[in-house]
Amino acid sequence: MRVRHQRWLVGAVVGAGLAALGGCASTEAAATDPAPQPPSPSSAAPGVPPVADAGGTSGTSAAPFDLTAHSTTDPRSIWVVVNKQLPISPPDYRPDPMALVEGYQVSPAAAPALEEMLAAASADGVPMRITSAFRSRDYQEGVHEATVARLGRAAAERISARPGHSEHQTGLSVDLGSLSEPGCNFDACFADTGEGRWLARHAVEHGFVIRYTEATTEITGYQPEPWHLRFVGRPLAAELARTGATLEETFGLPGGDYPR
Ligand SMILES: [Zn+2]
Repeated sequence: MRVRHQRWLVGAVVGAGLAALGGCASTEAAATDPAPQPPSPSSAAPGVPPVADAGGTSGTSAAPFDLTAHSTTDPRSIWVVVNKQLPISPPDYRPDPMALVEGYQVSPAAAPALEEMLAAASADGVPMRITSAFRSRDYQEGVHEATVARLGRAAAERISARPGHSEHQTGLSVDLGSLSEPGCNFDACFADTGEGRWLARHAVEHGFVIRYTEATTEITGYQPEPWHLRFVGRPLAAELARTGATLEETFGLPGGDYPR
């Protein structure tokens, strides 16, 4: 839990910047130097029952999943993949227009589903709140530089993402916080809160995935973050839930630590 503690120390120092550090993807690096895992595209996942052909124009209705339906490089795409190997391009990208959900900036592509998910959680008696959403490159840069100044580069990069490498810059990711146990916000124990358990079970129904899990740290480049939700749309969320694969594995894209 060394990294986790460091995060909290920094969070305390940065104060309001905690959400910006976001532990979140934005932030911590794998302590080791994980090699990117070889991709295992969904084509290697046979046995998917043919889905009733809803559109049928592709002529491949029996295909398990159409991995080309959206771009994985265009930051406006709900399937864009951003990690330590794959920075956002253009580097100063920001959603335009921007949507607001509970006062937080998010991509319009994710806003309706986010509102719907938060409403569903409340209806189930598990209200929660947004703790961080879109973060601009400049904002992330300021946080990163301040953290480096305080901790030194090596320590800082374990908890603070380099600008341009934060999934939050897409506006498709949000960090959610517990109202019942706010002490677990941005902490591993969020997974055991009512809110964390609700998200683990229901996020997929709203097109969100928990992007960083215990099993995928070497692939994603980040420690588990049960509070960091990434919108990918219902079809892909369901596919990822079915396969248990990361975005990187699904699309055959590099992951892990920063390039050396
Ligand atoms: Zn996050």
